[in-house]
Amino acid sequence: MTENPPTEVRQLDEVVVKAKKVEKDPAKIVLPPFHGAKRLENDLIHTHLDIRFDIPNQTAHGKAILTLRPYFYPTDELTLDAKSMKFHAVKLNGPSGPSLKFHNTDSQIFIDLGRTYSRQDTYKVYLDYTAYPTKGPKGGSDAIRSDQGLYFIDPNDTDPEKPTEIWTQGETESNSKWVPTIDAPNERQTHDFAITVPAKFKTLSNGRFVRSHDNSDGTRTDYWTMDIPHAPYLMMIAAGDYAVVRDTWNGKPIAYYVEPKYKEYATDIFPHTKELLSFFSQITGVPYPWPKYDQIVVRDFVSGAMENTTAVVFHESVQKTRRELIGDKSNELIVAHEMFHHWFGDYVTCESWANITLNEGFANYAEYLWLEHKYGKEEADHHLLDELEGYFGDRPYHPLIDHHYRDREDMFDGHSYNKGGCTLHMLRKMVGDEAFFASLKRYLTEHALSPVEVDELRMAFEDQLGEDLEWFFDQWYKKAGHPELTVTHRYDNDTQTLILTIEQTQKGLRVPEVFRLPMYVDIYNSKGQADRQFIEMNARKQVFRIAVDTEPTVVELDPEGTLVAQIEYPERSPIEWQELYNFSPSYRSRKYAIYALLDAYRDQPERQLRFAKTLLDDRFWEFRQLGLYLLQSAPKAPVTLHKIAALAENDSSVDVKAVALQILARTGEAKYAPLFKKIAENKDLPYHVTGQALIGITNLDPKLAAKYLQDLEDVNEPAILVAMGKLYASNPDPRHLAFFEKNLRNVNGFDALDFYSSYLTTAFQAAPGKLGDLFRKLKDIATDMTATPDQRFSATKQMVDFTRQVSDHSLLPTVRKYLAEIKEKEKLPDLKAAYSKMF
Ligand SMILES: [Zn+2]
Repeated sequence: MTENPPTEVRQLDEVVVKAKKVEKDPAKIVLPPFHGAKRLENDLIHTHLDIRFDIPNQTAHGKAILTLRPYFYPTDELTLDAKSMKFHAVKLNGPSGPSLKFHNTDSQIFIDLGRTYSRQDTYKVYLDYTAYPTKGPKGGSDAIRSDQGLYFIDPNDTDPEKPTEIWTQGETESNSKWVPTIDAPNERQTHDFAITVPAKFKTLSNGRFVRSHDNSDGTRTDYWTMDIPHAPYLMMIAAGDYAVVRDTWNGKPIAYYVEPKYKEYATDIFPHTKELLSFFSQITGVPYPWPKYDQIVVRDFVSGAMENTTAVVFHESVQKTRRELIGDKSNELIVAHEMFHHWFGDYVTCESWANITLNEGFANYAEYLWLEHKYGKEEADHHLLDELEGYFGDRPYHPLIDHHYRDREDMFDGHSYNKGGCTLHMLRKMVGDEAFFASLKRYLTEHALSPVEVDELRMAFEDQLGEDLEWFFDQWYKKAGHPELTVTHRYDNDTQTLILTIEQTQKGLRVPEVFRLPMYVDIYNSKGQADRQFIEMNARKQVFRIAVDTEPTVVELDPEGTLVAQIEYPERSPIEWQELYNFSPSYRSRKYAIYALLDAYRDQPERQLRFAKTLLDDRFWEFRQLGLYLLQSAPKAPVTLHKIAALAENDSSVDVKAVALQILARTGEAKYAPLFKKIAENKDLPYHVTGQALIGITNLDPKLAAKYLQDLEDVNEPAILVAMGKLYASNPDPRHLAFFEKNLRNVNGFDALDFYSSYLTTAFQAAPGKLGDLFRKLKDIATDMTATPDQRFSATKQMVDFTRQVSDHSLLPTVRKYLAEIKEKEKLPDLKAAYSKMF
């Protein structure tokens, strides 16, 4: 499962706690709820399911034969998870077997087996039922927004924008919304499905496709079989009108299911699938263990993507054209994440949701492994720091393995994913690559097709390496939080000793007072060379004395940026930060140095700009782009513009190119016209780059811009929209107002400012009667806190400009009233301050 980025930050009310002296009733001192693995009374071995759908009514009719056996103790009862279902018959063996007594609730069915079975016996139960997935209580989480289990998209074919589709989503315990099962991650079964759908639909399910059969009623039945056991939450079915692009990898079939109009982009949408299968097979030492690999896009999916075994489901947002995907790594990261689950999650499976980081931490770390392999360490470290900062913001802190969660859905958070991935990276760097991957191979091999808990991961490392790692797993997996370190140092000239003082300051519930921290420290000399020393911290405050020939220029803890820790250097000077920026090989150290320097120079704009210019030569794209952003609204010397033009033309990063072009386009200088044309004609650049060049051309030569833009009318890319807007504003026509109104929320940043300005110009000159309408629309954006701050500011700015430019207009009182309302409603401190200066 890939979660979506968090969309909100919740501010909790302040709670005032007063100590009260009350004798507590011992009977009221109870254990907190403990969420362990499900107790397995019966073991599900195989599910045979015949399922058909009433699409308009959003129900499913199933006939299932479940093969089971008592797990250990003899039993004469069977309890199955079966949510919002009506049972028509429950029989032993099959449809013609004897009826069994049963009763059911909204979530389970309890069956009297009529005799006692022992664990040497297997038995079969036949269930004829209708599933009503839209009924019953509704739940979900930030990561998985609904637990309906079975979904019908546009079931009555009333939405011309949407195809009719059927799909399922099992995690966490929602597949029991459409098939009775033992819905727990520590259960594991094989299955075969006969899926009946309208004949025009394609179907997808786990395992191998066996055959299909046309029925006389306009339907078709497809048979799929999954003969390697996997957990019930990984079962899936999808059906709809799809283009299916097929290929093979190592003799195994792979397929990409996309909407027909995206057929030619199928391998762009699921990039590097085959290379990833090879890469993960190689680094884990376990060849891809399943019979095939299919990926499908569905509409309105309730998460980012889901790792159903051999049949991964993706949200429609991955469905883009080739040019929209150039330079965009988000699709390949999701593909990598879901694929790695086929080792960690599907092959070995967390035994309970308390251990979900054994699935999600690994899938998250797969993103790092792929980036490092494909694009190098700096690109991977850039991603790792984003993940780490995502975890820092995920409060309150709780142990990675948390049996005391409130709701199992809460476990799909910035701990299980982000901290889980960062912790694996730290473990890898501590034991070394060879040891790390050999231990993972041992873990996968020893626990193949089994449920696991974190101690099994620990013991795989211990057995492989001959080293006790209880302390590491205890502090990182079973306790909460992370070290917060304050580092200071001084140099004793007389004894030529560096005296390094590190203090741990973290506090909180279940947070260790002292973390045991083996780590490196880099001590730089005046030539920019680092002497790397190993230290191990095991006290709340500790002083390390290290012999050093000359006074260090800067001292850097954790120089590779591998610790899950927040490290402060309260006494570090700008000169030391500059040394670190100049000489550190580490992405994390360099990034922190850049921001520390910008902060140090915040009251010296000249100096800040000088530093920004040096960033244009940085080896990493993010920092070159940052340099450009800093220069964006500053006056630029010709030599700087020359440099920016070189980045626009030659930079290897399309994101750097786009910002460089954005700056050049807004100079209005004709000398860049040849560059803009060259960029506009290059079909191997993404639209956000092309769009910036077209903005430049529109400013210089609207007629030429019109020629380029006529092919791009359907491209929903902000920079293209801005160019189009400028073109329309250069020759105002009331027919174009609809274009602006449709796209007001599709632009952001500087683009929003430009786009709204073109909208105002067009209306002002070509349709003055529509101006009242325009200001109302802008006011709606400016007062809507779900609009982005850039959109709110840009909308407000147009109104302010209007009040300044016209001295006498019938709409002035209305616009002034709107502005007062905007000022009143704005919550963001930065915008409030800006508004106070503006009006
Ligand atoms: Zn996942």
